[in-house]
Amino acid sequence: MRFLEFQAKRLLEFHGIKTPRSVLYGEKMPDFSPPYVLKAQIPSGGRGKAGGVLFAENDKELKDRADSLLKGSIKGFPVKHVLVEEKLRIEREFFVSFMIDASVKREILIFSSEGGVDIEELAKKEPRKIRRLEIRPFYGFQDYEVREILDVTGKNLLKLSSLILKLYRIFHELDATILEVNPLVLTEDGYFVVADVHLEIEDEALKRHPELGDMVSHYEEFIGTREMTEMEKRAREIDNLDHRGVAGRFIEFDGNLGLLIGGGGASLTVFDAIRKYGGKPANYCEIGGNPSVKKVAELTKLLLSKPGVEKIAVIMNVVSNTRVDLVARGVIKGILESGRDPKDVITVFRIPGAWEDEGFKILKKYGVKYLTREYSLDDAARMAVQGWQS
Ligand code: GDP
Ligand code: MN
Repeated sequence: MRFLEFQAKRLLEFHGIKTPRSVLYGEKMPDFSPPYVLKAQIPSGGRGKAGGVLFAENDKELKDRADSLLKGSIKGFPVKHVLVEEKLRIEREFFVSFMIDASVKREILIFSSEGGVDIEELAKKEPRKIRRLEIRPFYGFQDYEVREILDVTGKNLLKLSSLILKLYRIFHELDATILEVNPLVLTEDGYFVVADVHLEIEDEALKRHPELGDMVSHYEEFIGTREMTEMEKRAREIDNLDHRGVAGRFIEFDGNLGLLIGGGGASLTVFDAIRKYGGKPANYCEIGGNPSVKKVAELTKLLLSKPGVEKIAVIMNVVSNTRVDLVARGVIKGILESGRDPKDVITVFRIPGAWEDEGFKILKKYGVKYLTREYSLDDAARMAVQGWQS
């Protein structure tokens, strides 16, 4: 569960971490003085660039800008709450993030003294400015270990390392999957202040934290939900066409590679692996439960109707209750009906399991190569992105 910024900030305050003075717009007028920062409370980052973070010099501007934020939506989310904060006078901005790195199966700390920016951009341009510390299970880490990765000196080093240790305890004890502070601001008068925070807690762990109380039970009211895109709506319609099988979650992205993948953990693994190898998914589309040929064909056509999508990867873990041949037939049918050639469109087809020989026969007929179960999900993801030579 992803907390909204103001909820996460209240939690941090409760644990003794400094955040800017703030009020939710509408609950009361700020009792601190302008200039103000207005921040749309949506469950997504990158609000600054999308017009979700505004400034106001006086109470009139505050009212106008808050009202306009509340009327609109940012990044597809209707804005239900606006957080009003005192505007900090920034000396420096840092990036601090705790998360779980599944590839090393550890909690990690990522730090950069170039905060405030898009960290993924920075990782591309100046990777050396991003420091990383793997945290040992049970031990956690010591002050000195953090200090080694902070390029900060003097009194600030002590303040920063003890703040980071506190953040870690919160991250760890709340069963969070991410606690990211960007920016962590050093103010002109020498305080470290959490200016923005992204906190997510493992859903399964929420019941271990009754202290979160209202934040969890009133969550749905708070966040509002992202409106579905046209494509997502159409996927829902296709799913309702007949009862056989499911077109599960369908989420649209900006990339160019269409994905038909199985549901559950395996598909998340595949999705991450595709990104790891540099692929850009156009969507995330789960299928399962033995969908009909027609359902698969319609989904395939939907994927291919998205401008820029040239290729599709079809990847699932071993299936027992979905017939491989029906999926193969559906994908081929959808591609043909889109006026394209299956062997150009399908980068990989890897579904081992029930009726696989039949499925592989159909694919072969159309010149599509298939991957047997000797290739792992990771292999399939790599080949979907880099081709068969590598
Ligand atoms: P995000 O775009 O969703 O990550 O939203 P942020 O809360 O991080 O705000 C975006 C940017 O606005 C920050 O990186 C800062 O550069 C700027 N900003 C936010 N709060 C303040 C503030 O109190 N003072 C100043 N000077 N800039 C701020
Ligand atoms: Mn931010």
